[in-house]
Amino acid sequence: MVTHYPSAPISCTEVPPNAGQVSQVTAADSRYAYSDSAIHVLKNVHIKEETFYATTLIIPKQKSTSSSCQALREEEIFNIQNDRSLFPVGWIHTHPSQSCFMSSIDLHTQYPYQLAVAMQVMVPEAIAIVVAPTDKTRNYGIFRLTDPSGMNVVKECEENGFHPHRDSTDGRPLYEQCSHVYINPNLRFEIFDLR
Ligand SMILES: [Zn+2]
Ligand SMILES: [Zn+2]
Repeated sequence: MVTHYPSAPISCTEVPPNAGQVSQVTAADSRYAYSDSAIHVLKNVHIKEETFYATTLIIPKQKSTSSSCQALREEEIFNIQNDRSLFPVGWIHTHPSQSCFMSSIDLHTQYPYQLAVAMQVMVPEAIAIVVAPTDKTRNYGIFRLTDPSGMNVVKECEENGFHPHRDSTDGRPLYEQCSHVYINPNLRFEIFDLR
């Protein structure tokens, strides 16, 4: 699956720092906080030596309200992915006025990224980045559904819109902060803004 992927990134973090690193790094914030409006974008990566490198941010056309956002013309995203042999492993959106957390809708949006049904492959590394510029304690977070706890709850949930979720059977939270993501300021990074 990975052999046809193109050039390696310019630099790599071969030795991951400790798991607390994510919350300490702020250098990449400006990269994401370019819009006050709710945005729903897709982040893509190259694959090499069992490490995913986020190299590309694709911002689709979109329509949004104060509490929701929907991507439009998603075929434009897929075209860029295909043309550049990119592989989606996450997405990013803002909470312009809310705190930094994963809403029930966010959990459902995240589910297929981790499951990646369409590609017949599990991507447990898939991440959801929430940018919350007005959250005084944490202006961004990198999250994933707990597996299997949160994955099972979302899998069995058929509700739409904002809604409460039942607790997981083992009592674990439905999502968690990622400890497998490291921000590398030396990585080459491209943005496609299709709006
Ligand atoms: Zn959200
Ligand atoms: Zn649900």
